Amino acid sequence: MQKRPILYWDLRRLILILAVMSALITLANGFFATYRVQRQLLIDNSLDANHLYAAKLASVTTLFFDSTQRQLAYSASLLADNIDNKTFLRQEVQRLRSQTNTFNSVVIVNSAGVVLVTSPETLQMQGRKLTTPGALAALNNKAPQISQPYIATTGNLIVFVSTPINDAQGNYLGYVGGAIYLKKKSVLNTLLAQNYEDRDAYTFVVDGDGQILYHKDSRRVGQLITPVLKGNVIGDNQDGSLQENSPTGINSLIGYARVSNANWAIITVRTTDNTLLSLKGLMLSVLNRTAPLMLITLFAVWLLSRLISQPLGQLARSANEMDRVGISDEIERIPSWYFEVAQLKRAMLLGISLLQNKIGKLRTEAQTDPLTGLLNRRGLTFALEYFNVAKQAFAVIALDIDHFKRVNDNYGHAVGDEVIKQLTQYLREGSRASDTLCRNGGEEFLILLPDTGRDAAVEIAERLRANVEAATFSGVGKITVSLGVALWVPQQGETSLTLKLADDALYRAKKQGRNQVIVA
Ligand code: GH3
Ligand code: MG
Ligand code: MG
Repeated sequence: MQKRPILYWDLRRLILILAVMSALITLANGFFATYRVQRQLLIDNSLDANHLYAAKLASVTTLFFDSTQRQLAYSASLLADNIDNKTFLRQEVQRLRSQTNTFNSVVIVNSAGVVLVTSPETLQMQGRKLTTPGALAALNNKAPQISQPYIATTGNLIVFVSTPINDAQGNYLGYVGGAIYLKKKSVLNTLLAQNYEDRDAYTFVVDGDGQILYHKDSRRVGQLITPVLKGNVIGDNQDGSLQENSPTGINSLIGYARVSNANWAIITVRTTDNTLLSLKGLMLSVLNRTAPLMLITLFAVWLLSRLISQPLGQLARSANEMDRVGISDEIERIPSWYFEVAQLKRAMLLGISLLQNKIGKLRTEAQTDPLTGLLNRRGLTFALEYFNVAKQAFAVIALDIDHFKRVNDNYGHAVGDEVIKQLTQYLREGSRASDTLCRNGGEEFLILLPDTGRDAAVEIAERLRANVEAATFSGVGKITVSLGVALWVPQQGETSLTLKLADDALYRAKKQGRNQVIVA
């Protein structure tokens, strides 16, 4: 017998695996595509938002510096006529510092670079020469300017905004300047510190050298940004956005914009991780929405694969036992709702009917005597077996033609055959439909009579004998037969014994003169 493999690949499994796999791959593919698209969307949005925010903050800062310079320019025009009036100068610096909280300190310096007045006065710088980079640049350039941030004598990191004081003839009288402390509370500081909405983004400010001027983490003020970032932010004079993958593994989405009048840049940063936080929830909700349909699909696939494979499976199993009785009816009942199964079913039914016809024919041929069409010895065996199994009582008549050798000798074998055939005809006519007629070889016959008692059997035998005696056989004339009768009942067991008894009775009939019936 063929060994059955551990995993049995039948059609249903194959269809199911194929369908489930393709459904899952489709789902995974769709899921992955959605993930990629959503991820890129979030990143692009974040880059845009950061860029826009940086640009907005840069333009506000530009406006702020414009307005501080305009403030100072107005003051300078007043101061030009009162440069020697100490009281006026003092009032003016006081006004500049207090009126708005733009400047943390204000100073007026003469053309020699010597401090005339300061606000607040606590600075103790009156009469001294300023040597800070902002002050020196203001003196040398004699033009409105916003300094690069630097550490002032007071120790503060400051930006110095200044405007020259010129008299009506255009002579340089000195300058008025305001310092903005980057690490202390000022309008600029407040402006930069505000973060937009509730996004976990932060903003910082760098100068033209890529040095951090302002950062929410004050420890980072004064540090340099990465060369790559600097190349983008400071290098090209355009606003924009970029993704930066830092060596520490923290990837950032960066938007940047220039503050044109201060040679600064505003940079807004949001980490990629923070940006993508919502992605997980998004994908979960995608999954939530697709799951029910997916389950329904899988169920439908399962059902369909069953419907498709079941009839084929049944046909395949039936193919194994095509010679079994009743298999045609079972195959007939297999649902054939699609073409292939219908065809296979038709072919199998046809095959079975051919097969069974052939077997039936072989059986009849094997059990029939060709000359008379009666059962032969083999057929007799089956008949006896049937009586035995069915526990069916019967009588048996054994019959033999008397002196048949002579018929053959006198008239030839062919005439002898004709006599046998004609005798068969009389046997048929003299028996009931339920009786079994058998040619037991040569010119000997057996007749099995179901449910027939002794007397009835003898009567039948006698009638047969008389009929043969009365008949005329063509080409031969008269013949006679001798008969032996025996009975079988189920309690008796072996049927062969009864046949032997009948044969013995027949033998006795021959011995006692032939043409007679003897009962065992
Ligand atoms: P009896 O039975 O009365 O004792 O004498 P018998 O001459 O009939 O003897 P037996 O039954 O022993 O002989 C049978 C003969 O029948 C032998 C054979 O020549 C002949 N025979 C057997 N089968 C056939 C057959 O199929 N056709 C023909 N023509 N003759 C057959
Ligand atoms: Mg004989
Ligand atoms: Mg004989």
